[in-house]
Amino acid sequence: MNIVKKMARIGTESAFEVLAKAQALEKQGKSIIHLEIGAPDFPTPKHIVEAGKRALDEGFTKYGPTAGLLDFREAIADHVSKTRGVKVGPENVCVVPGGKPVMFFTMMALLEEGDEVIYPDPSFPIYESLIDFLGAKRKPVPLVESRGFAFDLDVLKSQLSDKTKLVILNSPANPTGGVISKEDLKQIADMLRDRDLMILSDEIYCQIYYEQKPSSITSFEGIIDKTIILDGFSKTYSMTGWRLGYGVMPTKLADAVNLLMVNSNSCTATFTQKAGLAALQGPQDDVAKMVAEFRKRRDAIVKSLNEVPGFSCTTPAGAFYAFPNVTKTGMSSKDLADLLLNEAGVACLNGAAFGQHGDGYLRFSYANSLENIQEAINRIKAASKHWAK
Ligand code: PLP
Repeated sequence: MNIVKKMARIGTESAFEVLAKAQALEKQGKSIIHLEIGAPDFPTPKHIVEAGKRALDEGFTKYGPTAGLLDFREAIADHVSKTRGVKVGPENVCVVPGGKPVMFFTMMALLEEGDEVIYPDPSFPIYESLIDFLGAKRKPVPLVESRGFAFDLDVLKSQLSDKTKLVILNSPANPTGGVISKEDLKQIADMLRDRDLMILSDEIYCQIYYEQKPSSITSFEGIIDKTIILDGFSKTYSMTGWRLGYGVMPTKLADAVNLLMVNSNSCTATFTQKAGLAALQGPQDDVAKMVAEFRKRRDAIVKSLNEVPGFSCTTPAGAFYAFPNVTKTGMSSKDLADLLLNEAGVACLNGAAFGQHGDGYLRFSYANSLENIQEAINRIKAASKHWAK
């Protein structure tokens, strides 16, 4: 059997690899604190689960429309129009199994070999993976720690060329927790408005923020027609296992995405869409409670990480990740992540798994209880004898 050559170019998401390693250690009887995976540790809100169960009882167990149920797409279009201050309709909405397929399908539909893609570095590893897989060209823009992991806008500008086909933005961001300010977004919108390119605005963490409410680039004049908004239910409603997300995009691209959907999934499970409808239209108190809890953990983990010898951690403005700089430990971030897993029983991710400029950082997901976070920090401090002389 021969696997096609281009499969050698596709990457992976290290969170799943580290999770598997950590679980193997647990099987051997080792105690592990999981700070590697980006899944909120809260149960899916009850009214959403009930809506999913009800839909099963009502017979939502068969194929549905490829683009998604019309009432659900209407509710999404309404929600996106209100929250981003734009005018989109159900014809712009593609419902897919998670946020990831929005990247996969739109990048498949937009990128030819040699096309250039601008994206943040470090960032969600699937962007780079798909750029490579599709034979497009990486144009990473390093994030600047001293700017709260925002872009240096001059560097962003210098990466733009006639070959740029896609610019990827992610705010609030994985792995840094950075949020792109409204002022920066305006400047980015001004840079991109008249160019022949598309923007993939990954807004999956848009409701998980601790300072100013994050803006969407689509709220600026003339941008919605060249943008794919990626959003979904995994993070906001703690529904990572339901596999439910959506893209909002111009209809020409939506048609292409629907064709890719019919060739792969046929449709997204309809009972999960009914649960998603309940999530959008029902009470939002569980989201507020989750974010309030994340805020407490963020404050605790950032304070404690800054007490670890050789670590320095800026305060993230969104998502649920802390991204300390660990260069002063004198160890590589890869060796440090391995040591913390194997010696201290703390699973976290090497920043380099998110791009070249993530080297020297670790990513801690604080989707775990305050007690466990505190225990993890105690273990890390105890392990610091390996690098703090
Ligand atoms: N975008 C970013 C930046 C993410 O961090 C993730 C998940 O970790 C996704 C998209 C994908 O979300 P989903 O689990 O809905 O596919």
